[in-house]
Amino acid sequence: MRVKDNPEANSILKKDDLIVIAGAGGFIAGALTRYFHDQGFTRIRAVDKKPLYQWYQHVPGVESLCLDLSYEDNCKRACENAVEVYNLAADMGGMGFIERFRVECLRSILINTHMIESAYRAGAQRYFFSSSACAYNTELQKRPDACALKESDAYPAMAERGYGWEKLVSEMFCQEYWAERGLKTFIARFHNVYGPWGTWDGGREKAPAAICRKVIEAKDTGSDEIVIWGDGSQTRSFMYIDDCTQGIDMIMHCEKLIATPINLGSNYMVSVNELVSLAEKIGGSELRRQYDPDAPKGVGGRNSDNTFIKQVLGWEPSTPLEEGLKKTYVWIEQQYKDRKAGKRTVS
Ligand code: NAD
Repeated sequence: MRVKDNPEANSILKKDDLIVIAGAGGFIAGALTRYFHDQGFTRIRAVDKKPLYQWYQHVPGVESLCLDLSYEDNCKRACENAVEVYNLAADMGGMGFIERFRVECLRSILINTHMIESAYRAGAQRYFFSSSACAYNTELQKRPDACALKESDAYPAMAERGYGWEKLVSEMFCQEYWAERGLKTFIARFHNVYGPWGTWDGGREKAPAAICRKVIEAKDTGSDEIVIWGDGSQTRSFMYIDDCTQGIDMIMHCEKLIATPINLGSNYMVSVNELVSLAEKIGGSELRRQYDPDAPKGVGGRNSDNTFIKQVLGWEPSTPLEEGLKKTYVWIEQQYKDRKAGKRTVS
């Protein structure tokens, strides 16, 4: 896909400046690698701890390194000669993962600690950190009709235990590297991202992919039932991957956003029940809903307040959920078939 050039990035970054993308074997950083490649950037270094054959996407002409970035020496190697560093590497997953594996989530602090220092020492001009809506105060997100979260709602802090606190502390690193050392840092708080080439099975997948897979699985096995975590009333907003990559580019190249956390998410809120209905509509099926009250379900309600991003960038994520989910569903369906046929798939 040919993506439109971002004029801001073009005035700041030369096409042969070295861009380093951490976490590139995974979903969002994999898509970001492809995004910059398609824009004509010629020197991209993609890094992930997964062995190369497990990377979700392989982008031609990109230097791809398998390095565990929780070690300082590996971060130094990753950041050598970098002009821009995008840190999207983290040990993470959907609610099923982050509620169960808090230690793993907290240990991602090592990645950001070493990556930001290495980027600074390497003389990088800009550093991007992928934060999360999980950094917001959970007390504000108890009810399904909770108000949309604005950037100031992270404090007083009561973040998601483990994963959210790691994000909050890493954000602080970014702010202090700017304040004390003059490294230009950029922080986006992503709200649920979904799309093709994302995790869709295995325990780390998030709600949109999990629900599409369950609908596809039910059709394939002839089951008429779907298991839903919680009572299905939990609400969220979901951002399509193309909006996410474009937003990262715009945020990273906006001087007004240095060291300033900003929401990057859709503000179209739906309940999990509504998301299931949408996936059923796409799949042309209607399933009996079994609710599992003991399954991890996260906060009661969460949405992105996009006042700030609209004000500063004159832009917000806008892919309609139905359109993005259809593309995701079709992609997962193909993955499902490929896996059944014994082919290698993303999961
Ligand atoms: P992902 O799991 O698909 O990708 C993360 C990648 O980081 C993985 O490929 C993993 O192998 C790699 N990684 C983990 N530990 C590493 C290490 N020590 N060294 C090198 N690589 C390591 O997840 P994603 O959905 O692409 O998320 C990317 C970033 O966005 C993460 O920081 C995540 O917390 C953040 N985020 C994602 C969402 C979402 O909805 N997907 C929402 C909020 C925030």
